Amino acid sequence: MDYRFLGASGLKITEITYGNWLTHGSQVENDVATACVRAALDAGITTFDTADAYANGAAEQVLGAALKSQRRESLEIFTKVYWPVGPKGPNDAGLSRKHIMEGINGSLRRLGMDYVDVYQAHRYDHETPLEETIQAFADVVRAGKALYIGVSEWSASQLREGQRLARAAGFPLVSNQPQYSALWRVIEAEVIPASRELGMSQVVWSPMAQGVLSGKYLPGQPAPAGSRATDQKGGMRTISRLMEDPVLESVQKLRPIADELGLKMSQLAIAWVLQNPNVATALVGASRPEQVAENVKASGVVIPPELMSAIDAALGDSVERDPAKTVSPESRPA
Ligand code: NDP
Repeated sequence: MDYRFLGASGLKITEITYGNWLTHGSQVENDVATACVRAALDAGITTFDTADAYANGAAEQVLGAALKSQRRESLEIFTKVYWPVGPKGPNDAGLSRKHIMEGINGSLRRLGMDYVDVYQAHRYDHETPLEETIQAFADVVRAGKALYIGVSEWSASQLREGQRLARAAGFPLVSNQPQYSALWRVIEAEVIPASRELGMSQVVWSPMAQGVLSGKYLPGQPAPAGSRATDQKGGMRTISRLMEDPVLESVQKLRPIADELGLKMSQLAIAWVLQNPNVATALVGASRPEQVAENVKASGVVIPPELMSAIDAALGDSVERDPAKTVSPESRPA
């Protein structure tokens, strides 16, 4: 497993991170979740991503328990704050000083850890002054509860202003966590050039488009049992946007390209995001340990330029590129 530096910082993370959105504390039982974490560790993954809001805290708890016996210094733990948690009261969401300070304490308690490596703003909060948010994050770092600060799904202008304030506070932003895959490339036009200039990496989510790029969803056919597209607890809703026949048909055209490289389509999808040097890691999910073992083989793969062009041609109009699609809610979610 290869490591990459996170932004302009000295922190190294594995180029494949195991993330537990929708799975831990929800779609999969705790023993399967633990087996997935074990498979990740066995494959050399040391970087893990979660959030306070995943399964309303349960995902952090399950991950923390699964990592309990590991040497803390050998792990890089990312978590996040912004989406509503707990009883979802008026101050249980967003990026106010109150919620950030209470948020980190709750995350550490659930993870059973003294600190996280990267604490991330899960979205931009239009209802809190940015100065208040950045000062609160800086104070979390000063208190030793997080080592670095990152953000998620911020636009290029939000990254610029956030980085200006973060540098002034003494703790620069190191990463942005956007959605990025061969099908969803909205960060390429503005967010990536701004991040390069600001010394920030992308830590990209849903590199397999939630499983769609694995090629297992066939046009005109029912989704395989046990897959995210059949998960009534949230998976089916979040993946539905991608479950359109024209998208599924174009994805099937990637199969010969994967074959030519001797890869599974899932591995091709993960390797594709890792070709971008501004990407520090692909945040990959898994509902069973065999998927983890398969997916990690994408580390270190080089896709030659002619096959990158063939991927573009295969996906055609199914690719979303509009930079205006990087958005955070106008008002704080309840
Ligand atoms: P992926 O695109 O990697 O999708 C993962 C899902 O695809 C798995 O849960 C599994 O679902 C299926 N899958 C995995 N491997 C294979 C395989 N080899 N063959 C076939 N199917 C496979 O990413 P996620 O959408 O899970 O997101 C990854 C992480 O990104 C999250 O855990 C979280 O850490 C982060 N994230 C961050 C967000 C943010 O706002 N910052 C938003 C969303 C995610 P199944 O088996 O059920 O079909």
